[in-house]
Amino acid sequence: MAILPTPVPPRPERRSFWTWGYVSDEPSDAEREAAAKRLADRLGEEVRPPPVPKIGDIALRQARLRVPTALQDWVSATDEERVTHTYGGHALELLRGLRGEFPNPPDAVAHPRDDAELEATLAWCDRNGFAAIPYGGGTSVVWGVNPPEHANAAVTIDLDRMNAVLEVDDVSRAARVQAGILGPDLEAALRPLGLTLRHFPQSFPWSTVGGWVATRSGGHYATNHTHIDDFVESTRMLTPRGWFESRRLPGSGAGPSPDRLVLGSEGTLGVITECWLRLQKRPVHRATAGVRFASWRSGCEAVRAIAQAKLWPANLRILDPAEAAFSAGMDGAHALLIIGFESADVPQGENIRAALALARGHGGLVEDGDVLIDDGGGAPTGRGGAVGAWRNAFIGVNAGLTAGLGLLSDTFETAVTWDRWPEFDAEVRARVGDALRRTLGDSARLSCRFTHVYPDGPAPYYSWSGVVPRGGEAERWQVIKDAATAAVVGAGGTVTHHHAVGRMHRDGWAKQRPALFADMWRGAKKAVDPGGVMNPGVLLED
Ligand SMILES: Cc1cc2nc3c(=O)[nH]c(=O)nc-3n(C[C@H](O)[C@H](O)[C@H](O)COP(=O)(O)OP(=O)(O)OC[C@H]3O[C@@H](n4cnc5c(N)ncnc54)[C@H](O)[C@@H]3O)c2cc1C
Repeated sequence: MAILPTPVPPRPERRSFWTWGYVSDEPSDAEREAAAKRLADRLGEEVRPPPVPKIGDIALRQARLRVPTALQDWVSATDEERVTHTYGGHALELLRGLRGEFPNPPDAVAHPRDDAELEATLAWCDRNGFAAIPYGGGTSVVWGVNPPEHANAAVTIDLDRMNAVLEVDDVSRAARVQAGILGPDLEAALRPLGLTLRHFPQSFPWSTVGGWVATRSGGHYATNHTHIDDFVESTRMLTPRGWFESRRLPGSGAGPSPDRLVLGSEGTLGVITECWLRLQKRPVHRATAGVRFASWRSGCEAVRAIAQAKLWPANLRILDPAEAAFSAGMDGAHALLIIGFESADVPQGENIRAALALARGHGGLVEDGDVLIDDGGGAPTGRGGAVGAWRNAFIGVNAGLTAGLGLLSDTFETAVTWDRWPEFDAEVRARVGDALRRTLGDSARLSCRFTHVYPDGPAPYYSWSGVVPRGGEAERWQVIKDAATAAVVGAGGTVTHHHAVGRMHRDGWAKQRPALFADMWRGAKKAVDPGGVMNPGVLLED
């Protein structure tokens, strides 16, 4: 039986151009002043937050196109539209936004409301050779939504008005969802039906289903269903050559998968408009624990044992001592392993006890009283102590607080097979640590956690930060990024586990994929986008 949920209302406010999220996510002047004071106390020197420019004061290049009258209902070239669609969410982009630097904005922004308006927009771009940039929530951290440098004009296609849940099949437990829907709107539409997607990337409040599918995003499940791929039943995409639509199937061995071509295409083949996504019942059984380890290495071994026991915990994140101190308030000597189980149908006490036995067998320290089990009573799990502190830091992340204060920070994530770990970790820390010392001096920090774990290997996520002189940010960032890419790819890992390729990881991806794969991909692109207008420069050189 198919149920039609209520339509999702339009987004109430515009996106911020200098921090993650919307205007209401922007910290106040007082909050920025307080953050500056905390940093000044740490550094022992004066730190002042720079003023935020007004959109009207930002000088933009003249638009290089004229929007045809027939398209003016949903395509516009106002400064506000062009400014708020110039950048994604990477640290250097936010900094440029805060400084009012917008040298290469899109020339126009489209907000199609239906297939016909999208078809007319794409045909206009294709006819004129304008770069067409699909845009979901604009949270790309790999330079995936920027207009290409050498286009004769660029049109951003924002899917925000194609944001409905169209159909729910509660027998198969799946929903037909438009690509522009934001994470919270999707969950709100499914909640009255007792259903959920439960795909929670950290950017969940601001990112869209289309963006997740286009980038193969990683959600909160640390094991088993890690990527959005695992939830995609079928896809629908408009290419310059026409519609591409796959059949809904629970699985299929019929040759190469059409969906696998769409997943990770990053806007280079077409605009994804809809997907059928696999759903599940909302969990009521939960169990959580935080386990301390005196040794990072034995903590990682415990993670391997739990992953290989195939208990499939929803959460299995280990934080190294530096990260546990910074984001979970721990002592700096212990690593923290956060284990969490959830299920709609099956009590999880037995699973967490089995996982904890494995952790203790590797030297893990946890009191029985610190294990929280809830079988539907609504008792909060994972909210207290170090586990809760880490959760709050993760959810409450706000780049705007420290933007422009002279701190440079970023992350890089990868995955590698267990046989290469922990030598891989040592190699990455040595090479990136060296680059950090050379560029950021004594202020540099480097830490690691696992975001996802597979039976055959972890997905480590490294975070770094340090003090940088004004004007030297991009150059120093590049030195650190080059060291990180060389280290992770050189030591047998992937250039990205879930942040996508974009323009940032193009060269690193080229080093790890089969040489012939680039030709195969070019062939596929040429078949659906012969004019090369779809997001040029992303994945492959323009
Ligand atoms: C604070 C923060 C935390 C993050 N945490 C995570 C995380 O936990 N896991 C994770 O995987 N990522 C994370 N990211 C990265 C980012 O959120 C993901 O890549 C996300 O999937 C992008 O979704 P979006 O809707 O914002 O897409 P956008 O940023 O708008 O676009 C991303 C790419 O997808 C393409 N695209 C977007 N929509 C479509 C469409 N409908 N059709 C075709 N192509 C399209 C764009 O052209 C672009 O190349 C994080 C980013 C930030 C800023």
